[in-house]
Amino acid sequence: MKQNRLFTLLLFILTFALGISQTTQETVDKIVSEGTSNSQLEVLAHELMDVVGPRLVGTPQMKHANDWAIEQFKKWEIDARMEEYGKWRGWERGITHVDLISPRVVTLNGMQLAWSPSTAKKGVTAETILIPEVTDSLAFQQWLPNAKGKIILVSMEQPTGRPDYNWEEFATPESFEKMKKDREEQTTAWNERIKKTGFSSRDINQAFEKAGAVGIIQSRWSNAFGANKIFSANTKTIPVIDLSLEDYGLLYRLTQSGEKPQLKVVAESKELGTVPTFNTIAEIKGTELPDEYIILSAHFDSWDGATGATDNGTGTITMMEAARILKKIYPNPKRTILIGLWGSEEQGLNGSRAFVEDHPKIVEGVQAVFNQDNGTGRVVNITGQGFLHAYDYIGKWLNAVPNDISKHIETSFPGSPAGGGSDYASFVAVGAPAFSLSSLSWSYWNYTWHTNLDTYDKIVFDDVRNNAILTAIMAYMASEHETKTSREKSILPINKRTGEQSTWPTQRSPERDGGKID
Ligand SMILES: [Zn+2]
Repeated sequence: MKQNRLFTLLLFILTFALGISQTTQETVDKIVSEGTSNSQLEVLAHELMDVVGPRLVGTPQMKHANDWAIEQFKKWEIDARMEEYGKWRGWERGITHVDLISPRVVTLNGMQLAWSPSTAKKGVTAETILIPEVTDSLAFQQWLPNAKGKIILVSMEQPTGRPDYNWEEFATPESFEKMKKDREEQTTAWNERIKKTGFSSRDINQAFEKAGAVGIIQSRWSNAFGANKIFSANTKTIPVIDLSLEDYGLLYRLTQSGEKPQLKVVAESKELGTVPTFNTIAEIKGTELPDEYIILSAHFDSWDGATGATDNGTGTITMMEAARILKKIYPNPKRTILIGLWGSEEQGLNGSRAFVEDHPKIVEGVQAVFNQDNGTGRVVNITGQGFLHAYDYIGKWLNAVPNDISKHIETSFPGSPAGGGSDYASFVAVGAPAFSLSSLSWSYWNYTWHTNLDTYDKIVFDDVRNNAILTAIMAYMASEHETKTSREKSILPINKRTGEQSTWPTQRSPERDGGKID
């Protein structure tokens, strides 16, 4: 009994010393408990990644995702709406099937790039050829008729399918050095080969298309076992296919050695004209200061080489779960809590830039924006984004976060404002205090970012749970904060490269009618 009282007294002194009131502590505890023992993250991840799938702007799946999110929020009795902000070229992925027919039959691992034209239903079968070695652009023009009826291999063959970390672990230092040197020389020679055609790797596909080629095969390796980056095609009528490093290498070597491989490509995508694009916005109205906003921010769209699990499925479900927890534990917030699931971040922060442009009143009322968009890892870094007094409030809010979560987080203040990278930059540009909850990498850049491997199995749920709880607590603290947060900007440092003083990033308009190939 006595000990118990002493403990209570100590706890009281401790919380007082940290400046955290008993109500605050109670609410924080409830948030932690709800986020831990009633977590909905696995269910949300399954429905979003496995059932809805990839969320490329302009696809029916993106619209499906918008509808799904609205339905989720409604289930939790959170008001939600879709805001149309523009349009995009509509397209739907279909079956891609790539088979080597001759000299032997092999089903290859590849897929159409986003917005790639389709083939006829029965596909196209043709011989593969390499980009030729020519002396100059004139020679290339003379060679070009050879592309007619062929499938062109447009990427360099990688000398190794093992990532460098694997070489570092097992190779002798000499052979690792030799491989890197050989690869460098090979890359220089390959770039030279393309340059001599008079085209760049960006526009050479169109030259082949014009010359009557029937398909383009590339392999954009992501320097990790089995991982390729899958972006968009730039042709009008012929398909562009990405093949795995392993299968591309096979095809390349067979072509080079004169085996005249025959390849069959079936690519069944559909063009859908022009379709509207949306942001999904949910809102828990503030009771005292409804015109001031805490925005929980994550882009909802993805590339479509996989299901966008870590870019940005995890950011999305973090914000949705934080909203669910807040609605349950803190249903009458002092300020309005708004959840912004942005469209078309991948094509240039389009959804968030549109939101900032279309809602100046909300932007003016921003208390804080918390954005998460660099993978599945627990949050390890928060910077003040150049706001002079960010430490005063972010520091205070972080104080309320349990040590198991905050101990991983390094902060730097005032930091410098981000000019891009993810949606918080759209808010920073107009001087609204917006912050990135920056994650531990879990090999994000090579393995999952924009690759064919960004799938459910890569999600680290305990880290995402950590982040949802962190976000809910930060939002709660920002909502309860006594004053509106300061937007005063720090004086930015001299840029070492230019010798001039850095300037604050400026607002940019979104692409509201995008995706057309001209
Ligand atoms: Zn992202």
